Amino acid sequence: MKFGAHTSIAGGVFNALKRGASIGCEVIQLFVKNNMQWFSRRYSRAEINKYFENSKKYKFFSIFGHTGYLINIAAPDCDTREKSIRSLQLEIELADSISLPFLVLHPGAHLGQGEEKGIQQAVNALNVVFKSTKNSRVKIAIECTAGQGTCLGYKLEHIAEIFFGVDDAKRLAVCLDTAHLFQAGYDITAPQGWENVIKKLDDHVGINNLLAIHLNDSKTPFGSRVDRHSGIGKGKMGLKTFKHIVNDPRLNELPGCLETPKSPDLQEDIENLKILRSLVDKRT
Ligand SMILES: [Zn+2]
Ligand SMILES: [Zn+2]
Repeated sequence: MKFGAHTSIAGGVFNALKRGASIGCEVIQLFVKNNMQWFSRRYSRAEINKYFENSKKYKFFSIFGHTGYLINIAAPDCDTREKSIRSLQLEIELADSISLPFLVLHPGAHLGQGEEKGIQQAVNALNVVFKSTKNSRVKIAIECTAGQGTCLGYKLEHIAEIFFGVDDAKRLAVCLDTAHLFQAGYDITAPQGWENVIKKLDDHVGINNLLAIHLNDSKTPFGSRVDRHSGIGKGKMGLKTFKHIVNDPRLNELPGCLETPKSPDLQEDIENLKILRSLVDKRT
């Protein structure tokens, strides 16, 4: 596994690379724009140039994006849904302009319509977005969730239904978040539990569609359906969980990205990266 962290784009998207490199990231995840706003301007030519200068300089194994938090593609027909579709289209354009391979996206919240209808809305929204961005190579990696409130994605079956529903499934991928799996009721703290998740994912959508792992411990108990992250080994999942995950040979060439609490000096990221790397078996 290649380790890294979600990194801030404060001061410009190109700054995320510098920050990530300064704490020893091999991979980074970033927001392509302010994650709490619907829309933004496109990047200037100067910003794009600086971005590619930095990507050449720092040579990350992978840089990918996470979509903004306002987007809800499962929403009923309303203003939120319209904005979600346009916002996602814009984020794909932004990601394309800096050659990101994929954007991580939560499947959304059905807001009382029921899960089946919510999944249908998500599928339809993705069909609209993929059609309008059909020349883009940016994929959408659906992330499993804790299942807080009416959020979809706390069952791997939800992700499978989205894969089978969309017209162009080649634009889709998957991101697994360790804390979300645990909070959703998948006990991955023992090797067999992790094995069951990987097997289920492989049976439903194919392991080759797994493009990223979010490495987070959980502040909330098993099956809580409440999404709170904590530092590696500092939550309810514990170090033992991460031991078998970081040593899973099927994930050797995948990004494992922290989304854990941190202060402005990024000391916690440095510490968590050190812990993760210490768990990797040293083979001679
Ligand atoms: Zn996420
Ligand atoms: Zn995550």
